[in-house]
Amino acid sequence: MYNKATTNKRVLVTGGAGFLGSHLCDRFIAEGYHVIAMDNLITGNLRNIEHLFHLPQFEFYNCDVSKFVHVPGNLDYILHFASPASPIDYLKIPIQTLKVGSLGTHNLLGLARAKKARILVASTSEIYGDPHVHPQNEDYWGNVNPIGPRGVYDEAKRFQEAITMAYHTFHGLETRIVRIFNTYGPRMRLNDGRALPAFVGQAIRGEDLTVFGDGSQTRSFCYVDDLVEGIYRLLLSDYVYPVNIGNPDEITIKEFAEEIIKLTGTSQKIIYKPLPTDDPKQRRPDISRAKEILGWEPKISRSEGLKVTYDYFKNLPSEELKTEPKEFSNYSK
Ligand code: NAD
Ligand code: UDP
Repeated sequence: MYNKATTNKRVLVTGGAGFLGSHLCDRFIAEGYHVIAMDNLITGNLRNIEHLFHLPQFEFYNCDVSKFVHVPGNLDYILHFASPASPIDYLKIPIQTLKVGSLGTHNLLGLARAKKARILVASTSEIYGDPHVHPQNEDYWGNVNPIGPRGVYDEAKRFQEAITMAYHTFHGLETRIVRIFNTYGPRMRLNDGRALPAFVGQAIRGEDLTVFGDGSQTRSFCYVDDLVEGIYRLLLSDYVYPVNIGNPDEITIKEFAEEIIKLTGTSQKIIYKPLPTDDPKQRRPDISRAKEILGWEPKISRSEGLKVTYDYFKNLPSEELKTEPKEFSNYSK
């Protein structure tokens, strides 16, 4: 399927064994790059990239980027995607989450500077917190509770944006910042607690679907291929300020659970559980900037994307369908 590298460009993808990072590795391999994936596998899985291991233009480094990052040879681009990303993950490993967004980002900015590489960092709609502006545009500064449970993720990502801009203004580093809104697709972890894998996993196991709160909170779900296209265009653009990438098709979580019930044909029903602290009430990206600067907008409808994702989950080995959240006890704080 893949030929050897067709450009002499080398790209480093941190978090390369995770959901988004592995799709980015695929995209850059397909574009003819030499790809180095780096990951400590805390929430990722080598299965996501095992199809690339036989390629001479693909390398994998098992490394905690919060500690020290070394890559021999030149680098043209760095995509920093290492970070726990689901509320269940960052609640269980809050210190690692803070460190990878802050110390890890600092290490990668230093590496980019040493290699004269361009770096793109993965920020998030969470920097808008529980937003007072709707839909969220890039000029909105957000409404984040720094000491709430989500603060470890949100504030690490806000620091990440600040230090990335500082490296750009102070050192003249070529930087890009993508603010990613809820994205879904194959290779999400079924037990990561996010709404889509939670609902699909429950439907497959014959359990009721757990909607938090009254389900009136909204999200806007983007299919992973659309996101990857937006990130690819942003990296190759000359735009240094943050850009929202997401699908503005907004839906309540209750309606979303109903769509999953229909898609999976389950006879289970919705049950209601308490709303987690600081759970944002509404979220929809304003993507005017991405449209104008990158000529980008999402192309894949939720019904198309959900079908592909459901097919992926249905075909997972049965031991993956278990409910228990991932155990992180091996990792030092
Ligand atoms: P994921 O958990 O699947 O992937 C994250 C990867 O980073 C994992 O493979 C994990 O093992 C690795 N990692 C974590 N800490 C590390 C460290 N210290 N050193 C090396 N590797 C480390 O999550 P994802 O959904 O693919 O998210 C990837 C990035 O995109 C994250 O930065 C996240 O904040 C951002 N993001 C994702 C979404 C989304 O909807 N998926 C939305 C907004 C932002
Ligand atoms: N959610 C839910 N049931 C679940 C998991 C999540 O109702 O089993 C809700 C969650 O409270 C939030 C929305 O779905 O309002 C999206 O949650 P997710 O963790 O996917 O993303 P985030 O809150 O980070 O946007």
